[in-house]
Amino acid sequence: MQPCVEKIISCRCYNPAMFTDIQVGDKVRLRKAHPCGGFEWEVVRLGADIGLVCLTCGHKVFLSRRELQRRLKAHFPADAAPTENKPAEK
Ligand SMILES: [Zn+2]
Repeated sequence: MQPCVEKIISCRCYNPAMFTDIQVGDKVRLRKAHPCGGFEWEVVRLGADIGLVCLTCGHKVFLSRRELQRRLKAHFPADAAPTENKPAEK
């Protein structure tokens, strides 16, 4: 039996609990706004890098899992509609 690679990667993350359940189609909010003013992104690709599309302007970026984890502010699973759609800060 080989150890699960995903599990090894998760163990190296700062906060695996926040990250293990991220899926394509999920919405995420980042700490810093995109230049277009948008905070929310949709996950479009999972892998060594996470593909994100800005929901405001459609711009696509790739972030490493670690980088995304640093910038991640909120995570909205695709099956849980983001009902509270307002900035959570302050
Ligand atoms: Zn944007």
